[in-house]
Amino acid sequence: MTTSDFSAFGLSAPLTAGLARAGFEAPTPIQAQAIPPQMAGRDLLGIAQTGTGKTAAFGLPMLQALLAMKGRPAPHSARALVLAPTRELAVQIAETLGVLSGGARLAIQLVLGGMPRGAQIRGIARGVDILIATPGRLTDLIEAGHLRLDETCIFVLDEADRMLDLGFIRPVQAIARRLHPRRRTALFSATMPDAVAGLAAGLLRDPVRVEASRPGQVVQKITQSVELMPAAHKRARLAQIVTDPEVTLALVFARTKRGADRVVQNLSRDGIDAAAIHGNKAQNARQRALKDFSAGRIRVLVATDIAARGIDVRDISHVVQYDLPDEPETYVHRIGRTGRNGAEGRAIAFCAPEEMDRLRGVERVTRQRLAPADAPRPATAARHGAGGPGRSRRRPARRAAA
Ligand code: AMP
Repeated sequence: MTTSDFSAFGLSAPLTAGLARAGFEAPTPIQAQAIPPQMAGRDLLGIAQTGTGKTAAFGLPMLQALLAMKGRPAPHSARALVLAPTRELAVQIAETLGVLSGGARLAIQLVLGGMPRGAQIRGIARGVDILIATPGRLTDLIEAGHLRLDETCIFVLDEADRMLDLGFIRPVQAIARRLHPRRRTALFSATMPDAVAGLAAGLLRDPVRVEASRPGQVVQKITQSVELMPAAHKRARLAQIVTDPEVTLALVFARTKRGADRVVQNLSRDGIDAAAIHGNKAQNARQRALKDFSAGRIRVLVATDIAARGIDVRDISHVVQYDLPDEPETYVHRIGRTGRNGAEGRAIAFCAPEEMDRLRGVERVTRQRLAPADAPRPATAARHGAGGPGRSRRRPARRAAA
C-alpha cells in the first residue's frame, strides 16, 4: 500500500496533517477495511487487538464526521463517546485522537475513575466533541446529572471482551440505552466469546465485520505448552522455569490475589526475586513493581488478570499460567503478553487434575488441542507428575500464530 491509500479515504485537511504528524504513511489492514464502511455511516464489528492500529481505524472516521458537524456541542453533552475498559487504554486513545485531529479545534475530554471529578465535570459542562471514558465514572457523572448522552451520535466500544472480564457489560448496556437512537456504533474486541457476540448483536445494526492481525506482517510467534502436574508440584516447576537462562522476563498469572502473593513468597523462599501486582496493592507499589520488571531488575512478575491489564512491557519472553483462568478467553489474553514485536514468546500453562475442565474450555475457545493425547484421565495426569516436577510431561511444542 502507498500513501495515496490514506488519501483515497477522502479525509479532510486537518486529518491528513494529523496522519503526517503521527507518521502513519499507509493504512494498516484493519484501517483499510474499517475506515470506508464507517465513513459511509455503517456500524462496525472489528475483531482486532491492540497493535493493529484499531484506534485510528475508528478514530479517523469519527474525527471526519465531527469536523463536518455544524455549530457547537450542547452543554453537558458529547457528540461522540468512546468507552474503554481501563484508564491506561482511555489515555492512550485520547493521545492518539489528539494527534490525528491535526490541530483542528475539537474538544476531547477524559472521564476516568481514580482522578478528581471536579475537573472532569467542568470539562463537560460546556459540551465536548469526544468523550473518552471508563464505564464506572461515566455512569456516576450521568446519574449525578452532569452529563446527558441523547445527542451522542457516534459510539465506540473498545476492547469489549475486557469489558466483559471486568464485569462492565451491564453498565455498558445501560450507557448505550441513553445514546441517540440513530447513532453509529463501532465495537472492537480481540476475541468473540458468546457474551460479547450477544452484546454486539444488541448494540450494532447490520454491522460490517472486519478482522485483522497485527500490522507490518509481524506474526506473533508464541510456542504454547501445557504441563500436567499435581498442584503440589507447581511451585518447584515454576522455580525451575524462571531460573532457565532463556527467560529474560517472565509474567506469571495466578487466579487470585492470595494465590499471587503465595507464589511470590514461595519464589522468594526458593531464592528468586519476584513481585506481585494485584488489586490489594497500593498504586505506587504496583507502579514500582512494574518499573522494576520492565527495567529487568526483577525478572519475574506475578499478576492477577485484572492487574495485568495495565502492563505494557514489550520484552516478556515467558508467560506462565500458574493456574488456568476461570474464563477460557482469558487464556488468549494471557499468552498475548509474550511474543510481541515479532520476538518469539513461550507460553506455558500448568494444569492440575482438578483443572482439566478449564483446559477443555480453553481448547474449545482456541480451537486447538493443547493437552497431551493421554491427558483426559486425571489419574494419568497425577501419575506423571509423581516423578518430580522436573520430569512432568510436556506436550511437544506447538507454534501458534495469534
Ligand atoms: P493501536 O492498535 O491503535 O493501539 O495502534 C498500535 C500502534 O500502531 C500505535 O503505536 C500506532 O501509533 C501505530 N499505528 C497505527 N496505525 C498506523 C499506521 N497506519 N502506520 C504506522 N503505524 C501505525
